[in-house]
Amino acid sequence: QRFDELKLDNKIQQNITAKGYEFLTPIQEQAIPVLLQGKDMLAISRTGSGKTAAFLIPLIIRLMQKPLATSLLIVTPTRELALQIGEEFKGLSRGMNLRFATFIGGTNINTDLKNLGQKPQVIIGTPGRLLDLSNQRALRLNHINTLVLDEFDRMLDMGFVHDVKRLVELIGKREQTLLFSATLDKNQRKLIDGLLHQPKEIHV
Ligand code: AMP
Repeated sequence: QRFDELKLDNKIQQNITAKGYEFLTPIQEQAIPVLLQGKDMLAISRTGSGKTAAFLIPLIIRLMQKPLATSLLIVTPTRELALQIGEEFKGLSRGMNLRFATFIGGTNINTDLKNLGQKPQVIIGTPGRLLDLSNQRALRLNHINTLVLDEFDRMLDMGFVHDVKRLVELIGKREQTLLFSATLDKNQRKLIDGLLHQPKEIHV
């Protein structure tokens, strides 16, 4: 399927074209319609499948529809992934007046505090730094209404299980939750069941 057949908003279509994306990847074909409807999703997929655009495209469209109310948090296990997602977000949201910030460990937290002053609608970060900012009362997590947990299995492998649980607790009630994982075992399944509400499950 081609992106221009989806009849998306002109601005995002322009940005998709500028990125050189012409055809949807399999995960994008499955995820974009589900996410546009605001549903929760559990996606089991490898990296390199185009999963970042699969969630960013519909979530950006939803952000454009209600830019003031919406705030989006994307949690990733590593700094590299956070920065990569930030780059993809920048390209796909060009010209839309959406602000994003990346909060990752090993950087000066004062810079983060300054960036929070700009009131970004989209926050991308690693669990430890997000919790630090929350503990300092700089980041208000109860305002988040869309949560993306990316590379969930890797977050567990890296020992972030308690941090992730704490983040989810601080966010509390939200509209939409997405979870991406390369693998899914029994223990993860139990944990995931508590995080998602009647998720659409896709395997690609
Ligand atoms: P990801 O799985 O999100 O890390 O994406 C892997 C690579 O695929 C990235 O370099 C993306 O820029 C690229 N990509 C994502 N969606 C598409 C698409 N529909 N067509 C071509 N390349 C894409």
